[in-house]
Amino acid sequence: MELTSGARVAVIGGGPAGSLSAYFLLDLARQTGLTFQVDLFEPRDFNQTGPPGCNMCGGVISESLMQKMAAEGISLPKELLLDAIDSYVLHTDSGAAAIRPLQEEMRIASIFRGAGPQGAESQSPLPWSSFDQHLMQLAQGLGARHVPRRVRQLVRDAEGRLEVHLQPARGESDEPEEPYGVYDFLIGCVGLNGAGVRLFEELDFGYQPPKTDRAWVAEFYMGAEEVHRRLGHAMHIFLLDIPGMKFAALTPKGHYATFIILGDDVNEELARQVCLSPHVRELFPEGWETPVRPCRCQPRINIGPPVHPFGDRVVLVGDCASSRLYKDGIGAAYRMAKVCALTAVTRGIAAEDFRQGYWPACQEMDRDNRLGHMLFSMDGLMRHLSFFRWAMVTVIREEQSRTDDPRRLSSAMWDTFTGSASYRHIFRRAFHPLVLWRLCVAMLRSLLPAGRGR
Ligand SMILES: Cc1cc2nc3c(=O)[nH]c(=O)nc-3n(C[C@H](O)[C@H](O)[C@H](O)COP(=O)(O)OP(=O)(O)OC[C@H]3O[C@@H](n4cnc5c(N)ncnc54)[C@H](O)[C@@H]3O)c2cc1C
Repeated sequence: MELTSGARVAVIGGGPAGSLSAYFLLDLARQTGLTFQVDLFEPRDFNQTGPPGCNMCGGVISESLMQKMAAEGISLPKELLLDAIDSYVLHTDSGAAAIRPLQEEMRIASIFRGAGPQGAESQSPLPWSSFDQHLMQLAQGLGARHVPRRVRQLVRDAEGRLEVHLQPARGESDEPEEPYGVYDFLIGCVGLNGAGVRLFEELDFGYQPPKTDRAWVAEFYMGAEEVHRRLGHAMHIFLLDIPGMKFAALTPKGHYATFIILGDDVNEELARQVCLSPHVRELFPEGWETPVRPCRCQPRINIGPPVHPFGDRVVLVGDCASSRLYKDGIGAAYRMAKVCALTAVTRGIAAEDFRQGYWPACQEMDRDNRLGHMLFSMDGLMRHLSFFRWAMVTVIREEQSRTDDPRRLSSAMWDTFTGSASYRHIFRRAFHPLVLWRLCVAMLRSLLPAGRGR
């Protein structure tokens, strides 16, 4: 079952996974002398502010993704990049520690997925543009056709091809209609927020979506000057002993500070508790009150592997399939979109082709995430044990104060929160005998009378 010239391809969902799948497929077609017709179905208008234009995320682009994109010739225009983040500050109940990367050129950037937070439209023209819109334009530049509609149903025809049925537009009749098109190959990139995954569960090739948790994201307006005075160019990570919370992060983003909370199905009450914590409040201007209705959302985050995300002529990519645990979801979408396109063009589009070409990459990511789960459970331990927390902050501070130190724990923390390395690499550094030794010494010191004062 090959993808031959003239094939019709439907990509459902125009987030990073969808736009990049279309981009890589068309790029490979160009290199191999093939022609495909690629329709990219995406109802969201990324040029709108607030929830209608946004795919809900922290908006941090890892340095490994920036490097991969640059190597591929994909440039990110200046107006997309709101802040270059050059360091992290780790806030715990036992103190704070600043973490700078080993190499000065290591930078991560913050972006808006849509046209910015609700209310930003009052700043016209907007001084930034949408990341997701940019990726979609890259795919369109290679010939993808944007269909600005939601897909309602997928049906296999007698020959095994896939019919795409659209949700009726406002004012249209709700009667079942003719399919919009019949496709040789379908890539599902519907993310996890919405009913998109059901389209693929109903196709009966054994797909089950990944396990998810609910996160919490808010954009707080402070004005660019205040944001930089308060946060600098650092991302602030909070590892606090608040039940239900895994970690929270405050990221400078131009005039805004993006606050995300990850945990076990974060709700408004937990978000309120975290926002009221003194460690968080001290980063906001004095007397600053959390806005009653900031631009906020509670998106779903991928925390477990999918089951069978491929069948004959169909494959799932991005958050609705395998992604990286708690970080670099856009980088994961980039990687998997590329493997998916390569498999389809060089092997074929039968279930067996995806099992051999695409599935091993998913499994590798899922295996790495298992180590990620172990690291985050260590982090849970740290949040509950004050002497362990103190030891960790102490070791990071010591590492950061020495220029000749390999800074293993600091760099493991940097990579944990930037997503710039696999959990396997992070694990090796975090559990290096020297790191464990320093942690043990610091823990013992913390138990001595006046130990923590030193
Ligand atoms: C709280 C939080 C913070 C995060 N922070 C970061 C971060 O800082 N950096 C990072 O790299 N990643 C981050 N992520 C992960 C990142 O958001 C995702 O990994 C990434 O968006 C996945 O891209 P996607 O294209 O698979 O899915 P999405 O971005 O969710 O895109 C799916 C698209 O499919 C469309 N769609 C859905 N159903 C249909 C349908 N029926 N018909 C047509 N279209 C449809 C939707 O409109 C949407 O545009 C974060 C996630 C969360 C929850």
